[in-house]
Amino acid sequence: MFHQAKWEEPLLLERSAAGKKGHNTTRPSDIERKVIGRDPWNDVPKALLRNGLPPLPEVSEPEVVRHYTRLSQENFAVDLGIYPLGSCTMKYNPKVSEAIAQNPKLEKIHPEQDESTVQGILSLLHRLDEFLAEITGMSRMSLQPVAGAAGEYLGALIMRAYHKSKGELEERREMIIPDSAHGTNPASAAMAGFNVVVVPSNSEGTVDLEALRKVAGPRTAGLMITNPNTLGIFEKNVLQIADTVHDAGGLLYYDGANFNAILGKVRPGDMGFDIVHLNLHKTFATPHGGGGPGAGPVGVRKDLEQFLPVPLVGFDGKKYFFDYDVPHSVGKVTAFHGNIGVLVRAYAYILSLGPDGLKAVAETAVLNTNYVLAKILERTKFELPFSRRRKHEFVLSAKKISEQTGVRALDIGKRMLDWGLHSPTVYFPQIVEEAMMVEAPETESLRDLDELVEAFIRAGKETESDPDRLRSAPHNTSVGRINEVKASHPKTLTLKWNNPNAGGKTPGKNPGD
Ligand SMILES: *Cc1c(COP(=O)(O)O)cnc(C)c1O
Repeated sequence: MFHQAKWEEPLLLERSAAGKKGHNTTRPSDIERKVIGRDPWNDVPKALLRNGLPPLPEVSEPEVVRHYTRLSQENFAVDLGIYPLGSCTMKYNPKVSEAIAQNPKLEKIHPEQDESTVQGILSLLHRLDEFLAEITGMSRMSLQPVAGAAGEYLGALIMRAYHKSKGELEERREMIIPDSAHGTNPASAAMAGFNVVVVPSNSEGTVDLEALRKVAGPRTAGLMITNPNTLGIFEKNVLQIADTVHDAGGLLYYDGANFNAILGKVRPGDMGFDIVHLNLHKTFATPHGGGGPGAGPVGVRKDLEQFLPVPLVGFDGKKYFFDYDVPHSVGKVTAFHGNIGVLVRAYAYILSLGPDGLKAVAETAVLNTNYVLAKILERTKFELPFSRRRKHEFVLSAKKISEQTGVRALDIGKRMLDWGLHSPTVYFPQIVEEAMMVEAPETESLRDLDELVEAFIRAGKETESDPDRLRSAPHNTSVGRINEVKASHPKTLTLKWNNPNAGGKTPGKNPGD
C-alpha cells in the first residue's frame, strides 16, 4: 500500500531567524580557491559589490536539508518507482554518470577559461560528437541545443539557411508534419518562420503516402517526423517518405527525442534523414522533468555542416580548440557550449554500455513494452487502435470504458498515483480518443512491469465496481485532484515569491487572486 508523505512545510523564509547560519556565503570555499588559484571575490569590481548580503533566509544546515527532503517526499520520482510516461522515456538514470558529472574538475571549470586549460573536457565533447554522429548516421553534431525543442528549432534554422543558400527560401515556406507529431514540432517550425502543413495518418497509424505526395512540392521546406512515431509504430515506408520529400527539394528532419526504440539498431542517416536531434535527457540517462536541464544535440549530413552553430569543437591532431570557422553558420543557439553536465552524463553512459549495451537498451525496451501491452490486452478492456507491431511505447484508448462507465483516461491515470506509480501520458497523441500512452523502459524489472499491468487490471475493475473512487482520485498523495486548466495557465500560477520585507506582495498570492 502506498501513502505519500504530507508535510505542512513552511517556506525557508518563514523558518528564518536572524543570526542562524548554515553556510558562510561571504568566502569562497577552499576548493573553489584551489581550482581558480585565487580568491574570486577580489575579481568583482568594487562598484558592483553589494553593501551587505541580500535578504536570504537565515537557517541552519539541517533545516535546509530537512526542508528539501520533505518537499521531495511529497513528489514522485524515477528513483521511487516505474514512471511509464509515454514519449518521455523516464528511465532510471545510472548513478555512476551522476558521480562523474559532479567531479569538481568538470563542475567548476568556466566556459571562458583558456583552451589550453580545458583540453580534457574539449576532448570529451569532441568524442561525444563522434559517438553521436556514429549512432545517428550523421556527419557532425552541434552539442549546443539545451532541449529537444531547441534542437528542432535549430534544425528548422538550418533548413532556412540551406534554402536561402539555394535562393529558394521565398518559395519554400512549408513544413510538413504528421498529425501524430509531438507538439513541439509544429511550434519549432512556426518559430523559425515556416507554415505548418499537417499530413494525416492512414488506417495503419503511419504517414499516408498519397496525402504526402499531394502536399510535397516546390513550396516544401522540409518534413519533420519521428520514427517510430508517437503511436510506437515504425514508419515502414520511411524510404519512400524520404524520396518523396527529397524529390520535391525539401529536407528531412528526424525528431530523435525517443531514440530508445532504435538505439544501435537503425540509424536516421540510413533512413534518408538530413538533420537529426537526440534528447540526451531521455535516451542517454540524464534525469529530466520540470523544464531541465537537458541537451538536444543536432546532427547533420556532410553538406549541411557549413550551417551549424559556432563554435564546434575541433582537433588539429595535437590540441582541441573552439572552431569558429563555419562559413554559413546560423550563429549561436545558446550561451557558451550547452549543458555540459548533461553531455558528460551521456558520454559516461555510452562508454559504460558500449555498442552491444546500447543495442541491448533498445531490444529490452521494446520487449518490456510489448510484454506489458500483451498482458493488458489479454486481461483488460482497454483497446489498442491500429494493429501494427509496437516498438518502445503504445497508445491505448479508454474510449469504450469511458462510454460505458463515465470514467475517463484522466481519472485512471490519477488513480494509478494512489498505487505508487506514475500515470501514463494521457490525451496524447491527439489522433487517439481517451489516449493512454505507455512506455516501459529497459530499466524496469519483470516485477515492476507486472505491477504496471496489475494497475491497469485493477483500474479496469474499479471502473465498474467503484467509478466514483476513480473520478475523485488521487487519494493517497500529498496533493489531491488539481484544476488541470488552472495548473497549466501561466497567469494563475505563482512562479515567484515576493519578499514582503522588500515591499513585495504577500507571499504566495497573485495579483487579482
Ligand atoms: C520530449 C519530446 C520532444 C521535446 O523535447 P524537449 O526536450 O522536452 O523539448 C520532442 N519530440 C518528441 C517525440 C518528444 O517525446
